[in-house]
Amino acid sequence: MILVVGGAGYIGSHINKLLNQRGYKTVVFDSLVYGHRNFVKWGEFVLGDLNDKKQIRLCFEKYSVKAVMHFSAFAYVGESVTAPAKYYQNNFVGTLNLLEVMLEFDVKHFIFSSTCATYGVPEQIPITEEHPQNPINPYGETKLMVEKVLRDYDSAYNLRHINLRYFNAAGADIEAEIGELHDPETHLIPLVLDAAAGKRADIKVFGTDYDTPDGTCVRDYVHVNDLADAHILALEYLLNGGKSDCFNLGNGNGYSVKEVIEVARNITGKEIIAVDSARRPGDPASLVGSADKIKQVLKWEPKYADLNTIIKSAWNWHCSLK
Ligand code: UDP
Repeated sequence: MILVVGGAGYIGSHINKLLNQRGYKTVVFDSLVYGHRNFVKWGEFVLGDLNDKKQIRLCFEKYSVKAVMHFSAFAYVGESVTAPAKYYQNNFVGTLNLLEVMLEFDVKHFIFSSTCATYGVPEQIPITEEHPQNPINPYGETKLMVEKVLRDYDSAYNLRHINLRYFNAAGADIEAEIGELHDPETHLIPLVLDAAAGKRADIKVFGTDYDTPDGTCVRDYVHVNDLADAHILALEYLLNGGKSDCFNLGNGNGYSVKEVIEVARNITGKEIIAVDSARRPGDPASLVGSADKIKQVLKWEPKYADLNTIIKSAWNWHCSLK
């Protein structure tokens, strides 16, 4: 059994689906604070909170867990600055609880959902795994703290782990059964599609005077199904005796906010009103990742790297919502 912690959320639910399609048995453990029960259409479901070790233990007692994938984290960067306690408690302490119970039950394989936010402001682009890690907000800090704990738990307890540092996860299940749904929504692509669908009046472009080709921020968007594929490669690598490691998950291509909006206009055929607005605090001009390492070591081959495909899948799912 693979335990998918946070499997009712955006990224976790896509990986849970793919695991089941590849023949793995899964159990999703999720508090449903931000997750959606109806995203867990595959495997078993346990309602539980990482702040409560008893609930984690009950899950490990009931299911014979071979490996753990951990997606359960609060991920609003701005909120992590104004309410850091919530982030250190949930993302850091919650993960320590999970690791403690794993060790009690002698479960030694762990796939961790990390982030390019652990790098902070990039010194060079594309960012490789060797780039210094100097997060500039508590969200990135909590993820880096877990990476450090994992390094020490590996040395001391043989806890084998893979840290996957995502760039901008985007898109939706190609079969449109699940997708990206946050409340509140802060991410660019879902907001742009809301504007296309007439659910909001416009999309605000946060900053038009960056040092980038069109003045708007550049990001590396990775399709969530490609992320899912990478997680399974990482899992199989560990189960086959691979050593602990970290990998970036990006496409090495940057797209500006204006380019994203333009592609969305083409795909949806709708008018999308873009309103130039002030910069959002804490946004680096450009974040683009090199995924050469995971391509080399795990033979990861992204299938949906093209921005058109990413936005089209998100739009298909968006249109399926009532
Ligand atoms: N962005 C924007 N308007 C919005 C939301 C986001 O211009 O309403 C920009 C944001 O400043 C960033 C990019 O879109 O440069 C991607 O933001 P998102 O929140 O999707 O992901 P992040 O890069 O923060 O992880």
